[in-house]
Amino acid sequence: PYDGPSAEEVLRKRAQFLSPSLFHFYKKPLNIVDGKMQYLFDEDGRRYLDAFGGIATVSCGHCHPEVVEAVINQTKRLQHSTVVYLNHAIADFAEALASKMPGDLKVVFFTNSGTEANELAMMITRLYTGCQDIISIRNSYHGNAAGTMGATAQSIWKFNVVQSGVHHAVNPDQYRGIFGSEGPKYAQDVQEIIDYGTSGQVAGFISEAIQGVGGIMELAPGYLPAVYKIIKKAGGLCIADEVQSGFGRTGSKFWGFENHGVIPDIVTMAKGIGNGIPIGAVITTPEIAQALTRRNYFNTFGGNPVCTAGGHAVLRVIEKEKLQENAFTVGSYLKERLKELQTKHEIIGDVRGRGLMLGVELVTDRQLKTPAKSEILHVMDEMKDMGVLVGKGGFFGNVFRITPPLCFTKQDSDFFVDVMDIALSKL
Ligand code: PMP
Repeated sequence: PYDGPSAEEVLRKRAQFLSPSLFHFYKKPLNIVDGKMQYLFDEDGRRYLDAFGGIATVSCGHCHPEVVEAVINQTKRLQHSTVVYLNHAIADFAEALASKMPGDLKVVFFTNSGTEANELAMMITRLYTGCQDIISIRNSYHGNAAGTMGATAQSIWKFNVVQSGVHHAVNPDQYRGIFGSEGPKYAQDVQEIIDYGTSGQVAGFISEAIQGVGGIMELAPGYLPAVYKIIKKAGGLCIADEVQSGFGRTGSKFWGFENHGVIPDIVTMAKGIGNGIPIGAVITTPEIAQALTRRNYFNTFGGNPVCTAGGHAVLRVIEKEKLQENAFTVGSYLKERLKELQTKHEIIGDVRGRGLMLGVELVTDRQLKTPAKSEILHVMDEMKDMGVLVGKGGFFGNVFRITPPLCFTKQDSDFFVDVMDIALSKL
C-alpha cells in the first residue's frame, strides 16, 4: 500500500514549486503512484485501465519486469562514463535498432528526448545540403526547443519563436482537408512552397506518419511518396518523426512511415523506444552521418549505458511478446468496435488511426464538424470515474487519443468501448 503524500498535498506543492504552465487532466486530478503493464493505480489503490500510455510512451507495459531488470542490472554495474570510452551497451543497442531499419539506415545517434532527436535531424539536413529551408506540415508537433518549436505547426505549442527557415505545408487531413483522402493533391502545396518561398533548393522535410498531438491524423495515402519525390528533386532530405508512431504501435508495420511505402533519409524516435526511460535516437545513412564529422558533436547523456540497456530490453520484449502483431489484431478489433459506437452516437464525427494509435473525434454537428470541446472533457471525467484513462488532443482539443501500452488486450478494448459508450450516453 501507498503511504506517501496525498493528491491534495502534491497539488499544493505543484502550485507552489513547479511551473505555473503545468496543466493536468480531470477536474479532480489523479495521483498516480503505481503502474503495472496496461494498468495504473492511484493513491487509494484504485486501478485504471491506461489507454493513453504516457502519450504513446509506454510500449511494452508499465514497469515491464524484463526492462526493469535490465535497467537495475546496468545501474549496479556502470551508470555513466561518456562515449570517449568503450562500453558494449550503446553499441549493442545501436546494432539492434539498425537491424529494424530498411535500406541504408544504419548509423545511430542517441539523444535524451524527441525534441533533441528532431533538432539534431534538422541540423543534419542543413549541414548535408548547405540549405536552410525546411518544410513541415501544419498541425504537426516536433518538439519544444528553438528549431523544433519552429517546425511544430500549432499555435498553442509555440512561444515567441523565430521561424527561421521553416515553412508549413497544407495538412493532408482526411477528415477536414479540401482534397479528402487524395494525398498527391495536397503534395502540390509543398512544390509551391519550394517554388515561391525558397531558392528552389531545400534542406529537407519533416513529418509524422500519424500526427499524434495533432489528434491522430494519418496523412492521406499517396501524400508522402509524392512529397518525398518533390523534396528529393529540390536537393532535400526527408525526416520521418517516429516519436509516436514507431516501435510497432501501428501494428501493420514496425515504423509508421512503412505504411506509406517510403524510405526516409533520417528517422527520429523517442517515447516508445524506452518504455518510459528518457532516450531518443536519430538514424541515418553512413553517407549523411558524415556531415557531423566536420565539427565535434557531443551529448553527455545520449546513449548512456543505463538507458541503452533499457532500450535494448524494450526491443527484445516487443519482439519476444509479439507486441507489433498484438497492436495489429487488438487495434483492428478496437477500431471496429469504435466504428460501431460511431453509428450509435451522433457526437462521434470520426474514428481513425492504425493499430494501437487510434483517434475518436467528437463534434456537435457532423456536417459542420463543430468541435465538441466541452463535451469531451465531461466524457473523459466520466470514463476516469469508471476506471478508464484516455488521452485528448487535436488542434481543437476535441479528439480522444487512444495510445495504450502495446500489451492491451481484446477484453481491455471491450471494457474501454463499453465505458466510453456509457459515458457518451450520459451526455
Ligand atoms: N515528435 C513527436 C511526434 C511528438 O509527439 C513529441 C512529443 N509529444 C516530440 C517529437 C517531442 O518529444 P519530447 O517531448 O520527448 O521532446
